[in-house]
Amino acid sequence: MAVNSVLPAHGDITGIMTVDGAVWRDQLTAAERAALGRGHGSIPDPRPDILVVGGGIMGVTTAAACAEAGLGSVLLIETGRLGTGATGGASGLLIPEPHRWSDPEPLVDLEQASLERWRELEQRLPGGLGLVDIDWIGLAPHPGGFAAHQPPAVEWLAPAQVERLVPNLARPMEGALIRHQARVNPLRAVARLAAGLPGVATGVAATAVTVRGGRLMTVTTSAGDITPGIVVFATGQPPVLDGLPLSIPSDRVKGHLLVTEAAPVRLPGIVAPVATQLEDGRLLAGGTFDVGDEDPAVQPDVIKSIMDGLVAALPAAKGLGIAYQWCCFRPRHPDRRPVIDRVPGLDNAWLTSGHFRTGILNAPATASVLARWISAGQPPAEPGTWSATRFSRLVG
Ligand SMILES: Cc1cc2nc3c(=O)[nH]c(=O)nc-3n(C[C@H](O)[C@H](O)[C@H](O)COP(=O)(O)OP(=O)(O)OC[C@H]3O[C@@H](n4cnc5c(N)ncnc54)[C@H](O)[C@@H]3O)c2cc1C
Repeated sequence: MAVNSVLPAHGDITGIMTVDGAVWRDQLTAAERAALGRGHGSIPDPRPDILVVGGGIMGVTTAAACAEAGLGSVLLIETGRLGTGATGGASGLLIPEPHRWSDPEPLVDLEQASLERWRELEQRLPGGLGLVDIDWIGLAPHPGGFAAHQPPAVEWLAPAQVERLVPNLARPMEGALIRHQARVNPLRAVARLAAGLPGVATGVAATAVTVRGGRLMTVTTSAGDITPGIVVFATGQPPVLDGLPLSIPSDRVKGHLLVTEAAPVRLPGIVAPVATQLEDGRLLAGGTFDVGDEDPAVQPDVIKSIMDGLVAALPAAKGLGIAYQWCCFRPRHPDRRPVIDRVPGLDNAWLTSGHFRTGILNAPATASVLARWISAGQPPAEPGTWSATRFSRLVG
């Protein structure tokens, strides 16, 4: 992708730039970019032991976990390039501890386990995944704003302490410090994991399935039929395929992000909700929740409001150009928890969907759960929490 031109911070921002406008691709090496388009349009093995449908972070980590578990031949198919969906547009923050303020306990447990798993993968894979250890500082919206529900790992900061850590804030604020969280370029992680996968076919869309006697027999794709032993659907939102008897309520929530030019300030990590500084000094800001906006285009007014918020909190950002701006959609179920389950009524098909705002974080632990379930017949500890049928009373 061509490097985005630097746009004036408050100038005319037009044009359609969805996830393709994200900063992440430009940070990759040529080999990593090539890995995102592996096996374009052709299916190397139409009879894999495991077929994973969907090449976002969930699909790639699941395919890697299945291969690691020795489940036989593994094939991953993806409609576009790997990371085309929400994965390629995410902020890439791996911050389970701050989620204690907002997420239910089983989800935080999954998130914590997943950060551990991210760290293991970082150590184990040759060259790692590009994980960066980073501290998180949350600025209280008002004094005492965090006091009610402190996670055990939090250090509460008085305004003077925040001022020492983040000297450029517009006004003194209390804050909460949580050390040793992490972040990752999500596309780099996908590319490096995919490079180690035995079978990848990009540019291949699943369109239909045939089912017989409680088993999924065939997956029809844009490049021909596949007859897998086992299928895992990791399609962001639940798969909608001809012949697949599945109806799980879900929607998606758009979010915008921007990256500035290199800033003349140094942030000590993630300063929420202000910005995260990237390696080259650029500031990553945003992560809006644009509920009801189904337009895939970047909305200039939303980008402007993110930039205005950044300047209001951090006056030194005034006048910085916007180097990248993009948006993407978070897949979501009504209770904001993911589905990690066997496809109801099918013996040899699983799915994971609706990872909403923590899918990058959740991916390695989710993949481990699925690989363990498939290999050892062992479902997750709290299967009801992630079940695909928990919504049945909603859909009646
Ligand atoms: C603005 C924003 C910021 C975010 N920040 C963070 C963050 O900091 N940390 C975090 O943990 N999460 C974050 N998220 C959430 C995260 O991006 C998602 O939860 C995660 O990417 C979901 O991954 P996935 O693999 O399930 O879905 P996706 O990335 O959408 O991947 C699904 C893939 O399946 C493919 N597919 C679909 N149907 C088919 C088919 N029929 N055949 C073949 N392929 C198919 C799609 O093309 C797609 O590539 C953010 C999201 C947004 C929008």
